[in-house]
Amino acid sequence: MDTAKYNLQGKIVVVTGAARGIGFAIAEAFAAQGAHTVILDLNSDSVEKAVQCLVQQGYSASGKMGDVTDAGAMEAVFAEVEKEHGGIDCLVNNAGITRDNLMLRMKEEDWKLVLDINLTGTFLATQKVFKHMMRARKGSIINIASVIGLMGNAGQANYAASKGGVIAFTKSCAKEFASRNVRVNAIAPGFIETEMTASLPEDVVASYAQVIPLKKMGSPSDVAKLCLFLASDDSAYITGQTIAIDGGLTMQ
Ligand code: NDP
Repeated sequence: MDTAKYNLQGKIVVVTGAARGIGFAIAEAFAAQGAHTVILDLNSDSVEKAVQCLVQQGYSASGKMGDVTDAGAMEAVFAEVEKEHGGIDCLVNNAGITRDNLMLRMKEEDWKLVLDINLTGTFLATQKVFKHMMRARKGSIINIASVIGLMGNAGQANYAASKGGVIAFTKSCAKEFASRNVRVNAIAPGFIETEMTASLPEDVVASYAQVIPLKKMGSPSDVAKLCLFLASDDSAYITGQTIAIDGGLTMQ
């Protein structure tokens, strides 16, 4: 990836949902900057494959299997990372899912699952990592929200509520954690080319491309580059912000 150099050498970074998609691009970008990157995801085979992909490029990476909705698993993962590496400098809460449907057809289980993974998962990982960052009196937490959490979307009431929740959660944590020198920011990606958006119907993609001022979808590496900045000391005076990376879709 062609990117600026940040002073992230030796930093310990955990990225959730990092076995593929945007999460993997974020993990790879941190590893390429010399950080030790921990790939956390649901499936042990996909975690192992993703770690191997980084190690084969000469990067420092390891994997943890874990479900972000499992409080005990999150507690254990961050305790292990702390023990193995002596600290955690950055957490990227990236794990997220969609279960789209129009309101009248939306099943309660799909409402709950999306809120559970996208919002409660972010809460649990943040709560568990903050214990370690608080003691170290430093850290950066980056929550991957979505433009849908800012502007809503027909057929995505569950997803919009979860991502809007992530944005409000980010601001509250930023206020609460500031005295411990732990910064918390959110990124609101627009339409990014991944498996998640590959499943969208062509006409939906075309209609979105029309309203994006830059007239194209973004790439996972666009999101990854913003994470590097928010994890680095170059953003030391930035906290509680939600930065849209959306080709101008939500500009005000
Ligand atoms: P993908 O579906 O490609 O990847 C999501 C990853 O999260 C998968 O590896 C998945 O594992 C993992 N995951 C799912 N549930 C859990 C869980 N409970 N615990 C741990 N890991 C889990 O998603 P994207 O890369 O497209 O999206 C990444 C983030 O970016 C999400 O939060 C999404 O909402 C957000 N986003 C994406 C946009 C886009 O255009 N793609 C736009 C705006 C925001 P498995 O494969 O095993 O299910």
